[in-house]
Amino acid sequence: MQTRIDALEKIYQAFALATAPYRSGTACETGCAFCCTDAGRIDCTTLEGLRIRGRMCKMPRPRQLGLKKALKRDMQKRESGLPSPCPFLMKNNACMIYPVRPFACRRITSLHRCAHDRPPLISRQVMAIAEKVIADLQRLDDKGYSGHLSFILHMLDTPRFLATYQAGDFKPEEIMAFGKTHRIVINRMVVTPSASPPT
Ligand code: SF4
Repeated sequence: MQTRIDALEKIYQAFALATAPYRSGTACETGCAFCCTDAGRIDCTTLEGLRIRGRMCKMPRPRQLGLKKALKRDMQKRESGLPSPCPFLMKNNACMIYPVRPFACRRITSLHRCAHDRPPLISRQVMAIAEKVIADLQRLDDKGYSGHLSFILHMLDTPRFLATYQAGDFKPEEIMAFGKTHRIVINRMVVTPSASPPT
C-alpha cells in the first residue's frame, strides 16, 4: 500500500510541475476558501481517502471526534442535496489536511478572484492535464472507487470494507447499495488498466 501512496505523491508532484507554466498569475491566495465552501463535490479516490484517514488517526482524540461529527454532518447535508463546506476547513480558512488533500483540491487554481457568481477560471491546459491525472489516479487505485470525500471516508470507516480494501481484494458487492445512492464510481470501470500497476 505504501508503494501506491508513494506513487500517488509522484503523480501530484508531476501535475504541479507540468502545470506550473500555466498557473503563474493565479488569483488564489492564503485565506481564500472559495473552493472549500462553494465549489460543489470534493472527489477523491479510495487511496487518497486512506491517506487522509491515516492523517486523521494521528490527530488528537478530541479533533478526531469533532471531525467524525463534521464528516457525518457533511454526508447528511449532501444526501439531502444541501450545500456543505468541507469538514476539513478550519475557522481561519486553512485546510486541516493540506499536505494530504486530494487531487480535487490541488487541480483548482483560478485565474481570477472567485465569487458566488464567478466560479474558478481554470486554464484550459491545466484542465486537460488534470483530466489525464484523474485517469492516472483511478488506474493507480484499480481496486478502489471515487466519490465525494465524506462518502469515501464513510466507506473506509466500515470495518468490512476497510479490511477488503487493505487486503487488496475487490468486492464491489460490499458497497453496491451505498455506491448506487451516493454516485460512487468503480475506478476500474472508467479507465483502462495500466501495463504494470504498482503493487
Ligand atoms: S480538503 Fe482542504 S483544500 Fe480540500 S476542500 Fe477541504 S479544506 Fe479545502
